Amino acid sequence: MRHVFMTLVAAALAVVVAWWIASLPGTVSVSLGAYTVQTSTALALLGALLLVLVLYALLRALAWVLGTPRRIARWRARRRRREGDAAVTRALVALAAGDQDEAPRQANRARRLLGDTPQTLLLAAEASRLAGNDAGAADLFKLLAGRDDAAFLGLRGLFRQALAREDWSAATALARQAEAVNPGGAWLRDERTQLAVRTGDWRQALALASPEAPLAAYATAAADAETDADEGTRLARQAYKEHPGFVPAALAYARRLRAAGREAKALDVIRSAWAAAPHPDLAAFVLAPITDKLARVKEAGRLVQANPQHAESRLLLARLSLEAGLTGEARRLLDLARAAGLRQKRLWILLADLEAEERGDTEAGRLAQRDALRQAATAEADPAWRCATCGSEHAAWLPVCPACHTPGRIGWDVVPRLALPAP
Ligand SMILES: [Zn+2]
Repeated sequence: MRHVFMTLVAAALAVVVAWWIASLPGTVSVSLGAYTVQTSTALALLGALLLVLVLYALLRALAWVLGTPRRIARWRARRRRREGDAAVTRALVALAAGDQDEAPRQANRARRLLGDTPQTLLLAAEASRLAGNDAGAADLFKLLAGRDDAAFLGLRGLFRQALAREDWSAATALARQAEAVNPGGAWLRDERTQLAVRTGDWRQALALASPEAPLAAYATAAADAETDADEGTRLARQAYKEHPGFVPAALAYARRLRAAGREAKALDVIRSAWAAAPHPDLAAFVLAPITDKLARVKEAGRLVQANPQHAESRLLLARLSLEAGLTGEARRLLDLARAAGLRQKRLWILLADLEAEERGDTEAGRLAQRDALRQAATAEADPAWRCATCGSEHAAWLPVCPACHTPGRIGWDVVPRLALPAP
C-alpha cells in the first residue's frame, strides 16, 4: 500500500516537473564557430540532461576497462586462497591418517599457495616430522620460532625434538625460552615436570608438579640429592609430612636428623613409620649404632611396640633373638608367624638357620635344616621394591622406575602385580 502510494507521488512529481519545464518561456542559443543553434529552453534542458547521462555512461565504461587487470589479479588471489585452504585441509587429513607421502606434498602445496604463515609452516614442519625428515622439520620450527606471532609453536616443536633425541640440556634451554614467550602454560608445565624427572632435577620436579603427582617421592629424591644440610632436612621433612607411612621419606628425614645430632627425634620418626608400614630398612637404621646383641633385641622390642603382631615385627625379633643366642624365643616367634599364615621364603631360611644353631651338626639337625630349605624352595616370594606400573623388581627404592621411566611407582610389595597403565 505504502509502495503504491510512493509510486503515485513520484509519478505526480514527474508530471509536475515535465509540465513546468515545458511551460518555461524563452529560448537558448549556443554559438560554436560559424554555427549557431537556437532552441526552446525546455529542449535545451532535456539535451543537457542527455549529455550528462551519456558522459557518465562513458566514464563508467572507461573505469571498467581500466580496472580489468586488478579484477583478474583479485580473482586469481581468491582462487589461490581457495586452493591453499583445500591443501591445508588435505594436509591435516593426511597428518591425522599418518600418510607420510601425502602430508608433506599437501603441506608444501599449501605453503606455495598461501605463503609462509604460522599455519603453513607448522603444517610443513609436522609433515616433515611424520616423514622422518627431522632436519627439515627443525629448520621449519626455527623459522616459526623466529616469528613474533608464533614463536611458541616453533619452540614447542624444537623442544619436542630435543626430548625425542634425549638432548636434555637443549630441551631445558628451549623450555626456558618457551616459558618466557608463553608464561604459565599448562602443557609446558607438564613437559617441564617430565623433563625434570628424566634429568633427575627433583627440586624442579617438586616445584612444577601438580598435587596429583608423587610429591613424597620427588621430595625424598630431592632431599637425598641435596648437599646443603638445612635444605636437605627441609625437603626430607616435606616428604615425610606428605606421606608419613612412606619408608624412603621417613628414612631420608631420620638420616638428616641423626646427622644433625637429633637422635631422639630421628627414632620417633622411624617408630611412627614402623607403626604405619614396617620395613627392614627402618630396623637397620635404628640398630646401626648398637653392637651388643642383647641390646639390639631390646631396641627392636621398643621399635615394634606399636604393632608387635605384624609379620615384619616377628621376623625382626626372631632374627635378632637368634643372633643373640635366644633360640627358644626365636622359635616361639617363628611359630607365631607361621600360625598367622606367613609362608615367605625368608621365614624358612631363618628356620633353617635356627635348626643349625639349636641342633648343630646332628642327624636330626641336618634333617630339620633340609626340610626347612626344601620348604624355602617352593615358598612365596619375599617382599621387594617393585614398580607398580611394569612389575620390575629393584634392589632399592628409586624415585623413578629405570625400566619404564614412570616416577613414584616403586613400592615395597609382596606379590608381583600385573602391569598397570601409568597414572
Ligand atoms: Zn616400571
